[in-house]
Amino acid sequence: MQIHISFDYELFFGNASGSAQKCILEPTQKLIDIATKHKVPFIFFVDAGYLLQLKNNKHNSVCKSDYDAISKQLKLLVSLGHEIGLHIHPHWEDCRFENNQWQINTTRYKLACFNEIEVENIVTKYHHAIIDIIEKPCQTFRAGGWCVQPFEFIKKALIKNNIFIDSSVYHEGFHDSEAHSYNFLAAPNKSSWQFENDPSEENILGQFKEIAISNDKIPPFFYWKLYFKMRTNPLVYKPIGDGSWLVDKKRIYKHFYTPTNHFACADGYFASRLKGLLKYLEKQNHDKMMILSHPKSMATYSFETLDNFIALAKNKGHQICKIVEGSDAN
Ligand SMILES: [Zn+2]
Repeated sequence: MQIHISFDYELFFGNASGSAQKCILEPTQKLIDIATKHKVPFIFFVDAGYLLQLKNNKHNSVCKSDYDAISKQLKLLVSLGHEIGLHIHPHWEDCRFENNQWQINTTRYKLACFNEIEVENIVTKYHHAIIDIIEKPCQTFRAGGWCVQPFEFIKKALIKNNIFIDSSVYHEGFHDSEAHSYNFLAAPNKSSWQFENDPSEENILGQFKEIAISNDKIPPFFYWKLYFKMRTNPLVYKPIGDGSWLVDKKRIYKHFYTPTNHFACADGYFASRLKGLLKYLEKQNHDKMMILSHPKSMATYSFETLDNFIALAKNKGHQICKIVEGSDAN
């Protein structure tokens, strides 16, 4: 099996964005150390709107030093052979840096909140914010908050940017809240497929490829355990990032009383499920496993567990690889 270990490289979008140091730079350095130890590549979907905002606010010393440090880390990631993908949270259009902190406004959280010309403009200028730093284009895309539907305008913008691989969909994923909106209930239970007008619908003649995020069905007792562990041993289980999530309270409560769909993930205590999920995917004869995590949500426990998981997966003969290389190998 090809295993893709991907991270959405970003701040938080709740009441507090958190700092670049704690949410991005420090945890990513720990991930670099793990990857180097095992000689494997990771995939970082870089929140390009944040880069552009940092660049536009470089007259502020905090933004300038964050921009410089992040640019340096992205160049390091590329030089070490990691893959950089385009991640778009268009609500950066409405965020401001005031009183030395980000004022996050998620009123227009998804690309669907913008018109065709705006979407093309956002995708292109955000993509260029990455190209300016790493000096090469991205070949893969992940929509912020999984909000990749409707795809019509995004499709045109991606074609203009020469991007034909998406990794935003997870089987049975569904969310309809004030900020988020996606419906992957009809998505195939497969690792990857071609598509044209909707990433959750297979179309063998489509010009795009979906590399689906592996999905996990999580029973309520897991969330009770997670809650208990975070409360009793925060040093081990609490995420390293110093911001707060954009939360949908109704959805969180639901996790505690009914099984819910989630994506394969190394964040915090979720990392404990990777081993079992790998076994499940092996049994189902999947040819890929796509893990989606966030540097900001990694905890002491998740670094250790990810480290062990990589050793186990390699031992079992699986290949931990980039998406672009991975798809070429098919
Ligand atoms: Zn994101």
